[in-house]
Amino acid sequence: VIKESHLFFIKLLGIFAYILKNFHRLKNTTNSIFMDAALIIIGNEVLSGETIDTNAQFIGLNLLENGFVVRKKITITDNLSEIIRTIDYLLVDFDLILITGGLGPTNDDVTRYALSEYFNSPLVFDVDLFEHIKELLKYRKPNLSVFNEQQAIIPECAVVLNNNLGTAPGLLLRKSNKVLIALPGVPYEVKGLMIEQVLPLLNKEFPLETVINYNIRTVGIPESLIASKIKDIEDNLPENIQLAYLPHIGQVKLRLTAIGNNPAELNSELTSYVQLISSRLMEYIYGYQQEELPAAIGRLLREKNATLAIAESCTGGHISHQLTTIPGSSFYFKGSVVSYANEVKCSLLGVDNKLLEKFGAVSEEIAMAMAKGVRNLMKTDYSLAATGIAGPDGGSAEKPIGTLWLAASSNDKTIAKHIVFDRGRLQNIQFFATFGLDLLRRLIMGIE
Ligand code: ATP
Ligand code: MG
Repeated sequence: VIKESHLFFIKLLGIFAYILKNFHRLKNTTNSIFMDAALIIIGNEVLSGETIDTNAQFIGLNLLENGFVVRKKITITDNLSEIIRTIDYLLVDFDLILITGGLGPTNDDVTRYALSEYFNSPLVFDVDLFEHIKELLKYRKPNLSVFNEQQAIIPECAVVLNNNLGTAPGLLLRKSNKVLIALPGVPYEVKGLMIEQVLPLLNKEFPLETVINYNIRTVGIPESLIASKIKDIEDNLPENIQLAYLPHIGQVKLRLTAIGNNPAELNSELTSYVQLISSRLMEYIYGYQQEELPAAIGRLLREKNATLAIAESCTGGHISHQLTTIPGSSFYFKGSVVSYANEVKCSLLGVDNKLLEKFGAVSEEIAMAMAKGVRNLMKTDYSLAATGIAGPDGGSAEKPIGTLWLAASSNDKTIAKHIVFDRGRLQNIQFFATFGLDLLRRLIMGIE
């Protein structure tokens, strides 16, 4: 027979076990259910603005996807005492610190010396690491230099995270229950190490409950308008769900990250928020999860068993390029005409020269004529045409740089759109392609 007092004791034990298990989370500076992390970005060139800090962006986003939130980031010079002071400062509040930069073999790379000093651990030559570096450099000429030998010298207490994309290793160091991970600066190596080594390791080291991510992909609506449309939802999100806005060339990806201990419950909780947000943004949503805009266009065309042709002037083939990055695009994409010169618009697309003279190449009439022309030429169900002024020359008071006319055409109808947008030639071309694909999407889906 179990007495009341026994039950009480068992319950007490349970609570104690729970606290032990979640100790690291209870200590979080923000009391969030997500685990806190701090970043140290090392590099003079990042401070001077010569290099844009893409490492912090990649690390931040990937940590968040795994339930870790970067609460503080400090960017510093490649300076020994500065590195030591910053580690010391951040380790007071954070159990997890990631560092990038300064792990290379040259004189300006001092991170390994700083780690050795801070962790009071002598620098030693790591034979296994040297073998790994030799293997990596097997086919490279000239052969191993004294610099590469230098890279096999690490603090004795550090655990090596093998870098398969470069010679600077990742390093993991511990101080009581705190973890510090140092990565090289090269962004491509940071990505490889994060995915292959760091994230699996962190998930083991700090076992959080289930983490689920969900992407909602929008186009043709600015971040600020999204924010105002879903403000009430966002303000009332539960503590275990985070929403991130990820803008990219005319698109905004909304990413929801949820943490919980019951995967099924978590899934349905997340799904209900995805549905709620979707209902507010309806016509702007082209897809979910990993589906990019050109892939969404491909899906829509396949559903209708329809084909597509493109006529591009100012985008110079960029729209066609985007479409053909999608595997299997040959099922629906027939081809494109890059009709840069007016004579090509006339000779290949059948645009009337009189129209060109009357309205100019960048006009609604010409965009429509190009779209209809290429659809006739290639005998497709749908077409898209773009004509505009990408800059930096060619603008006028009436048609400034960044003026774009788009037209999308089907057997039933042809629609056109006028946009003025200028962020410099290269960005204009990228944005114009997104605007064009969005107009085409709207025509195929029947969105007015
Ligand atoms: P390496 O072996 O190449 O010397 P490293 O660990 O010493 O690696 P750094 O010398 O600091 O790294 O940087 C290497 C390259 O990575 C440089 O081209 C630098 O501009 C770039 N880089 C460094 N930090 C960042 C960052 N935070 N974001 C983007 N690029 C970065
Ligand atoms: Mg370097």
